Amino acid sequence: MKIGFLKDSEPRVSITPSTLEKYIALNHDIFIEKNAGIQSGFSDNDYVDAELSSRNNIYNKCDIIVSVNSSSIVSFSELKNKSIISNFSMNPDKQNLSKELTKNNITAYDLSLIPRTTIAQSMDILSSMAGLSGYKSIIKAAELIPKIFPMTITAAGSIKPVKVVVLGAGVAGLQAIATAKRLGAIVEASDPRQAAKEEVLSLGAKFIEVEGAVEDESAGGYAVKQSKEYLEKQKEEVTKRLIEADVVVTTAQVFGSKSPILISKDIVNKMKPGSVIIDLASSTGGNCELTKDSKIVVQNGVKILGNSYLASELSHDASNLFSNNVFNFINYIIKEDNLIDEKDDILKSCKI
Ligand code: NAD
Repeated sequence: MKIGFLKDSEPRVSITPSTLEKYIALNHDIFIEKNAGIQSGFSDNDYVDAELSSRNNIYNKCDIIVSVNSSSIVSFSELKNKSIISNFSMNPDKQNLSKELTKNNITAYDLSLIPRTTIAQSMDILSSMAGLSGYKSIIKAAELIPKIFPMTITAAGSIKPVKVVVLGAGVAGLQAIATAKRLGAIVEASDPRQAAKEEVLSLGAKFIEVEGAVEDESAGGYAVKQSKEYLEKQKEEVTKRLIEADVVVTTAQVFGSKSPILISKDIVNKMKPGSVIIDLASSTGGNCELTKDSKIVVQNGVKILGNSYLASELSHDASNLFSNNVFNFINYIIKEDNLIDEKDDILKSCKI
């Protein structure tokens, strides 16, 4: 197969020198757009076994085109009858996107729709990127608060450890908890999934107990929409912690729905000036009423940073994980230069 990897409109790249070796071992012909890896710490000289190409050449010669973010593809008319592998969830205009794909007879595989099954785990870009975002959320918070994280005793007096509250203890939330704990913070977390409780406790954080959560085994690992009663009780329990917190990281998402609002403007007004909220759910509406995607809003001296794409700021490691996810996906769907059975569960879920 001839597979082309684009220089993305963001720092990450969908092929690294080590994944290139794996494609070559499987006899694929690899084309990489010039300077594709430069912002992730990979120079063109690191890709010796690939053909370094212009974008036009890639579009002309390749059967499959890969990018980290589908917004990097500006014109779909140049990709008639080809296949694209990318993350389409970041594309702002979904309606126009599907029209363009249909019009140009393009088969697109959206890696953000890979199912959350054991077999698909190695292809799951949402999980690999969420872990990095969770880590970065705490690093961002540490930069923004006027405090240090660990308890410190000096001759000039002692400093108390910071208090961190994490709302949503999934992949990103758990990594945020682990990072905050390593820095010496006191951490508490809330999540409606019971499975999350054990994971929170195993990281040495406290779990905020709220009764009445709804769970659904068939939701494939995702949380489901919670009742008004649960959200009210949760708000009551969580508010007590938020007004004492120095750092709040929110990651709460419900697949296919807008993110639940867990922090109202009223609560922000009760929080301590100087504290920060890092809202990782901002691309789906945010968990704080005041969140603005990709912006910092200041209210009552509380800084609210909305950013769902913090993994891009760790482009070297993010590219390593993302490119492994892509390789595992391509290796799974292509067998002896042919696409596997179209009825396969993984293919069915992510093909658009
Ligand atoms: P996500 O990004 O959809 O949501 C983040 C977290 O927000 C979840 O833990 C969710 O329970 C939580 N949440 C939803 N509503 C909330 C509310 N009202 N208050 C507080 N928290 C709320 O999910 P995710 O982090 O990508 O994954 C969730 C879980 O799915 C993981 O912890 C994991 O167990 C499972 N998972 C399994 C696989 C796999 O088997 N391949 C892959 C990825 C994730």
